[in-house]
Amino acid sequence: MVSRGTTQQSSAPYNRRIVLDVIRRQGSISRKEIVDLVSLSPQTVANITNDLETIGLIVAKRRTGAKSRGQPPIAFELNPNAGNSIGISLEPGRASAALVNLVGEILGRREVDVDTHDPRRALAAMVGLINDLLRRPAISERIWGVGVALPGPLIETDISFVGPTALEGWKDLSVLDELRDGTRLQVFYSVDSVAGALGETLFGVAKSLDNFFYMHFGVGLGGTLVVNRTAYRGANGNATEIGHIPVVPAGKTCYCGNAGCLERYLSLHSLAEALQIVDAPDRDMQIVAQLERNENPALHAWCRQAADRLRDAVCIIENMLDPRAIVIGGSAPKLLVERLVALAQPLHHSVRGGVAVPTERILLSERQEDSSILGAAVLPIYDLLSPRFEVLQQDRRVEADLADLMGQRAITRAGRL
Ligand SMILES: [Zn+2]
Repeated sequence: MVSRGTTQQSSAPYNRRIVLDVIRRQGSISRKEIVDLVSLSPQTVANITNDLETIGLIVAKRRTGAKSRGQPPIAFELNPNAGNSIGISLEPGRASAALVNLVGEILGRREVDVDTHDPRRALAAMVGLINDLLRRPAISERIWGVGVALPGPLIETDISFVGPTALEGWKDLSVLDELRDGTRLQVFYSVDSVAGALGETLFGVAKSLDNFFYMHFGVGLGGTLVVNRTAYRGANGNATEIGHIPVVPAGKTCYCGNAGCLERYLSLHSLAEALQIVDAPDRDMQIVAQLERNENPALHAWCRQAADRLRDAVCIIENMLDPRAIVIGGSAPKLLVERLVALAQPLHHSVRGGVAVPTERILLSERQEDSSILGAAVLPIYDLLSPRFEVLQQDRRVEADLADLMGQRAITRAGRL
């Protein structure tokens, strides 16, 4: 995709983002190549790359190898050390966190079991994880902020904060404001599936996809539709909660009050129920051990049923939304997701059948277990690295000089992405 700059006077931040985005997507690119891709004048691109280099977001490197006359050209790359971001994935019973640099590399990872029924304990766990990660030597002085990914729906509805796959017992997200006050860092949050989808957009298998559906397979099951690299929100910010779509008539009772919901068949919680290890403290390790041994008939039966539901879900999503691909991420072990995807073959006929390359109808996150945390870490830097006009209108953070240059404003409370 060619990103187009604009010559309007007020568009300077937008053009800087366009150029930064092209550099990120290409990995390494010369000034002339940028000019060819963004439809801005060579002088404008030169000014922008100078600005970006001055504030440390990009670095210039002399390309080696090209034996032409004169000096080999200078190529620009994103500066990995331009800053770090902290991602926290909050799931029922556990908080996981990672320190991530500007190119999506995980520099440190921690996790802790916590009774998430009590928001105050979750808050204490998050503060502990952040302090622990920030103690690392030689981390960048610039911390872009903390991103927190939580199971949805987060906007208050009949089915928010209910059931063992959500943050049961929570009333609101005020602890995130306290997290901001307690750490003096900017805090951003989103539903885990939105975070995962944005993470895949910036650093993962969806890097080259402008539209796709992200399926978040964790303790519960969620989903996010990405259109033009933006997560579709719906009327009230709770769009595409696919876990609560009823798929089995008179099926298993669901905590949302309905029966036969997809999540009751396709989630880690559902698998733990089948294996009768819902309350086991080492539940995830037991699941992996059982998958590796592959002997338990209950596991086999669950996988077959879950694969049937996955096949149906893929058909529903494809026929409804015609996404370029369905990307599966989340905290579920890769071994499990791979098995279910294999068992779901052949997929149903749908509007993607005969159009999409069969192996590309479903793509697996390369980060699988880490995709939630990486997605969370992306929240504080997504609007910096993504050249979308509408993002520029939002009220956000960061040090004043950089914020000005990139068209941003500081915020005073946790920002929802
Ligand atoms: Zn339900």
